[in-house]
Amino acid sequence: MQDPTAVYKRILLKLSGEALLGNTDYGIDPQVLTRIADEIGQLNRLGVQVGLVIGGGNLFRGAGLAKAGMDRVTADYMGMLATVMNSLAMQDALERLGVFARVMSAIRINEVCEDYIRRRAIRHLEKGRVVIFAAGTGNPFFTTDSAASLRAIEINADVMLKATKVDGIYTADPLKVPTAQRYNELTYDEALRRKLQVMDATAIVMCQEHNMPLKVFNINRRGDLMRVVCGENVGTTVVKDQRQ
Ligand code: UDP
Repeated sequence: MQDPTAVYKRILLKLSGEALLGNTDYGIDPQVLTRIADEIGQLNRLGVQVGLVIGGGNLFRGAGLAKAGMDRVTADYMGMLATVMNSLAMQDALERLGVFARVMSAIRINEVCEDYIRRRAIRHLEKGRVVIFAAGTGNPFFTTDSAASLRAIEINADVMLKATKVDGIYTADPLKVPTAQRYNELTYDEALRRKLQVMDATAIVMCQEHNMPLKVFNINRRGDLMRVVCGENVGTTVVKDQRQ
């Protein structure tokens, strides 16, 4: 069988911490981690440059800790450190599969991983290493969705791929509303106006302002990541309003 052909040269993939949960309530399911690492490895072997942002929601979320009484900024730092743990786990899983990877953190933790330096990150990508951007933006009150938009724009990615547990953007939450319909394509404005909970507004606005194409797809469906990268009609594409 002929190898698939990628339509993107460089992508930024956003995985939520939840994606790593598998069937567990907390932490990382090693089987899920290995499966996702394997799918990323397939892209890497195809020559696609992959930047990755992983969330921390499977371990800590700042807002949740703050609700329980913790100082919000401290809580957000814990959330950022959680993303570093997930990133290290992914680096390890990738390297066990023979894929070179580098964690680059927005918060300096030199003994553990590299600092995020844009030009160095681009060099890693050019050399075929998967770059895992850890610690979000490095600032409290942001999310890893915003970090993903930021890094996608900074590294000049061709597209930002947001991995979720449903196969695109729906008119309502399909897990709660069975009649919800999936959009094939949607504009940034619509996503914002209808509060479709694709990503937080800051992240969507950044993509919109910098014309960064966004695709939302289901990471739990094996092979969909490759299908998206090969240009198949999978998930939902968020684009600029052509009339603007
Ligand atoms: N976080 C932050 N600044 C950032 C990115 C993340 O303070 O730039 C913190 C925030 O507390 C957040 C947590 O890290 O709740 C984990 O990230 P996120 O909730 O985005 O993870 P996901 O929902 O994608 O698993």
